[in-house]
Amino acid sequence: MVSDAQAQRSIRLVIFGRQGAGKGTQAVELAKHYSIPHISTGDMLRAAVRDGTEFGLKAKEIMDRGELVSDDVMLGMVAERLSLPDAANGWILDGFPRTTQQAEDLRSLLGDAGIDLAIDLNVPEDVVVKRIASRRVCEKCGTNYAAPDINIPTVPCTVEGCGGQAVQRADDTEEAVRKRLALYESQTAPLLDWYHGQGLLVIVDGVGAPTEVQAELVGVIDAAV
Ligand SMILES: [Zn+2]
Repeated sequence: MVSDAQAQRSIRLVIFGRQGAGKGTQAVELAKHYSIPHISTGDMLRAAVRDGTEFGLKAKEIMDRGELVSDDVMLGMVAERLSLPDAANGWILDGFPRTTQQAEDLRSLLGDAGIDLAIDLNVPEDVVVKRIASRRVCEKCGTNYAAPDINIPTVPCTVEGCGGQAVQRADDTEEAVRKRLALYESQTAPLLDWYHGQGLLVIVDGVGAPTEVQAELVGVIDAAV
């Protein structure tokens, strides 16, 4: 039995983290733990493009031109998603806001209630670079491996009967990863400052076993909500 207090508890979270910090995995687990939807704007955009919705076609056109979907359009998409019944008791937002303007838009959208917490799942840059740059993907079957060292170019695939070689994808080279991380940093740092200024930011150490990180996150959220 769930008590009334628990049933009525609403949890509104925003989560940030570098690529490779395990943000997606942790967000999915948190969503399960609190029975709230994990709302990933990246997933929503990809799904809309894949399904060829009117919005998806428009978004694809913008992204194909190498541009970012505008704050207005993103806010519209998020507002629509947050109005669905499954989001009535809260949600965990992942991928939005991405700019301070979007954070202000979200605050206007939510009104007085606002969000409960903005979580920065922190894993140092060198750690995520090592995680991503050591990733090798089998050319034949797509299985992922972690090379023991980022300078080892290939790893033999161990899937029975495959016989393929796992190689590094162009996106996963150290240079490509550092470039993406620098862009993330420049976009996100002002946003984290903004949430810090609102007294809503909490930094959680994302290094360590996923179950330990999850326990830490739950502890922080339970203390705040
Ligand atoms: Zn293979």
